[in-house]
Amino acid sequence: MIKSLLEYQTIDAQLREIEVSISKSDERKKAHAANNFLKGVNDSIAKLEQRAEDLVSKHAQALKTYEKLAEEIKEYDGVADMDEDHLSYVKKKAQELTEEINGLTAHIDQITKEIEGVLKEFAQLKADTKKAKAQYAEFRPKYDALKESKKPEMDAIKKKLVALEKKIDAEILEKYKQRRQDKIFPVLNEASEISKHAYCRCGTELSLTAYNGLKGGNIVECESCHRLLYLP
Ligand SMILES: [Zn+2]
Repeated sequence: MIKSLLEYQTIDAQLREIEVSISKSDERKKAHAANNFLKGVNDSIAKLEQRAEDLVSKHAQALKTYEKLAEEIKEYDGVADMDEDHLSYVKKKAQELTEEINGLTAHIDQITKEIEGVLKEFAQLKADTKKAKAQYAEFRPKYDALKESKKPEMDAIKKKLVALEKKIDAEILEKYKQRRQDKIFPVLNEASEISKHAYCRCGTELSLTAYNGLKGGNIVECESCHRLLYLP
């Protein structure tokens, strides 16, 4: 059974090699990246719109306050006939209002700058979306063609694998396929035996039960990394 699974794995390795070459191909990477960008673009637009809305409302609020202060400071203009105490109070009040207005002006400038930034981001997003659409339109068909070109070879390997499956215990085969899907490869590995202890490739020492299983010619699973193990 171990021999059959090892044979299965050797053939499966050819299939995996093709799969990896497809997944690492420029065609897939470019199609995938563009698709991911496009999938997220509505979210990005919604976030930018929300930011723009917040900024516009902050801007309007600041302007309103500004107008109120500008109106208020007018009242302190042209006050001539008044006693010394009152005059100094008015001067102080006018000074405070001037400072407040200056601070508010800086605040409004800042909001304006932020709004300009958001508009720039909108423009950038639009340009990036156009680029991503073009990239997807170019590379999706290329990626599909690449997959199509590898299909006969992959189908032939799959056929061989199916033929071999009959010789393998169904439960072990199921585990093997699961690990394979989890991107553990090779799935089945030789355990190392050192003075009546067995170790996985990952360095984990196996339990006594697992060790006895290995000695009895069984396939066991590493509790730590879930590779399947055997002893020759
Ligand atoms: Zn392990």
